[in-house]
Amino acid sequence: MVRAVTGALDAHRRAFDDDGVVLYAGTNTMSPRARAAHRAAVSTRPSMGWPGDKFQAGLDHLDVLETLAPLRMAALMEGEYAEVRLQSATLANLACYTALARPGDTVAVLPEAAGGHASHHAQGAAGVRGLRVADLPYDDAAFNVDLERLPAFLGRERPAIVVIGGSLMLFPHDVGAVRAACDEVGATLVYDASHVAGLIAGGRFQRPLAEGAHVLTMSTYKSFGGPPGAAIVTRDAGLAERLSAAAYPGLTANYDAARLAPLAVTAAELAETGPAYADACLANARALAGELRSAGFTVAAAGLGCTVSHHVAVDASAFGGGDPAARALAAAGIYLSGIGLPGGPSGEPMRGLRIGTQEVTRHGFGPRHMPAVAGLMARALLKGEDPAAVRADTVALRHSIGEARAAG
Ligand SMILES: *Cc1c(COP(=O)(O)O)cnc(C)c1O
Repeated sequence: MVRAVTGALDAHRRAFDDDGVVLYAGTNTMSPRARAAHRAAVSTRPSMGWPGDKFQAGLDHLDVLETLAPLRMAALMEGEYAEVRLQSATLANLACYTALARPGDTVAVLPEAAGGHASHHAQGAAGVRGLRVADLPYDDAAFNVDLERLPAFLGRERPAIVVIGGSLMLFPHDVGAVRAACDEVGATLVYDASHVAGLIAGGRFQRPLAEGAHVLTMSTYKSFGGPPGAAIVTRDAGLAERLSAAAYPGLTANYDAARLAPLAVTAAELAETGPAYADACLANARALAGELRSAGFTVAAAGLGCTVSHHVAVDASAFGGGDPAARALAAAGIYLSGIGLPGGPSGEPMRGLRIGTQEVTRHGFGPRHMPAVAGLMARALLKGEDPAAVRADTVALRHSIGEARAAG
């Protein structure tokens, strides 16, 4: 049995970490220093309460982590307070719903076809909290919130919370305009930066808290590149207190304190290298979008320049939708996922393929490698080549970049 488990782990590591071209937007690889700071043994040491005021005695050393990690995260994301104990962004969003709304209240969120995440919707955390979910008015052509229809919509729906930010973020939101509309109805504005947190940390894309979001929630393991988990950041002391009470003792007792060391290390690294990393992610996305178009793919938002983030979306209707296309690419050693795209009939299966450049950027891919990546995708999807043949070349590309890096 143990051998079956370790064998599966090794095979997974080979497929993704050694051989794969990972374009899945919701993942990353941690830096060597962050990885070295992860101590599995800490995970089973419960730590409940505030540093210096714990339920358990003798946790002075963990107090160091529990102080440094939130301070670093708050500073990096331009807030004053960070809650870092929650194990996932789904729980971070649930903490917002718990702290900022009551069952029966309305939360207004991005439609699912426009990147609204399950945790924003009735089947996810919003439904768990008993909230009524209303889709924000959306401008399909602009890939963004419809600001003209927003004030009347908010006046009608009277949400307690408005959530912007989602699972496909090609363009920034006009946070200031959304906040102004929220202020008219007393709604709290939450910006879910799960996907774009690494760009924001690098000072790119947008500055949600400076632009007016009351609260920023985020995954720490997607573009941010840290350990799995979440952060909630705000500038407002009163909100911070309510959100932390929702996190503990609301939604957690023990949590995995081992996460906090790699999180603090990742935040410290991004404070230095974040701008260059974010720029490289953006350059790769721009280059890949262009190469995919040249190769014959239909790239979403082409009329708007395709993307200003690390995301690219491809219309996969011609391949039966995003899921079958992603499976065909996985057989070719290229890992990504389907995604909904705005503008289709309601209830349509995921029409798009979503690409994120954060992990290949960390592996040393640059714009000069994007013709090869687009070429492999074209062979697997447009030309219908044998996936095993394409996979051999995918692995060769990945290894060539690893070896070029190792050679300095
Ligand atoms: C991934 C994601 C989440 C959930 O993150 P988990 O850590 O997997 O729970 C929440 N919101 C958005 C927009 C996401 O993309």
